Amino acid sequence: MTSQDEPQVTTKTLKGSCLCGCVEYEVDGPLRDVVSCYCDQCRKSSGNFVSATAASESRLNILRGDGLAWYGNKLAKRGFCRECGSSLFWLPRPGDGLIRIMAGTLQRDTGLRVAAHIFVNQRSDFQELVGDAPRLINGNHPVGMSDAGPSEDWVANYGCS
Ligand SMILES: [Zn+2]
Ligand SMILES: [Zn+2]
Repeated sequence: MTSQDEPQVTTKTLKGSCLCGCVEYEVDGPLRDVVSCYCDQCRKSSGNFVSATAASESRLNILRGDGLAWYGNKLAKRGFCRECGSSLFWLPRPGDGLIRIMAGTLQRDTGLRVAAHIFVNQRSDFQELVGDAPRLINGNHPVGMSDAGPSEDWVANYGCS
């Protein structure tokens, strides 16, 4: 069993898709644990907040991409299904080699967990935060691709209860 405090990395291959099936993909681990972001960008583009995992761009294999369309602004590029509107991916601008995958588009048995809530001050007033993951007012989360968890110093500096 993995302790609750220890970020974990899923190394298996997971499949995902949009709602209508016009976009299907698989991704080979390692996959980063999930970060939930409540920033204005995520709130408006998703309808509330974004919970995303991340993987090396080279490990994402689009199996069916006829519905995939990209929209973007200066901060991010976002991948949607143009047929059903599902939000599937996002990439920061400039990129960092990691593709963010909207975790709810994956198969349900992911082995992932929410490891941080970020930009929590930008969330809507109805949105409660649940669980023990650190709650940050900015985006500087320590959730990485390695299995090294956040240090106690980090939690003291950035975590809030
Ligand atoms: Zn679709
Ligand atoms: Zn965000």
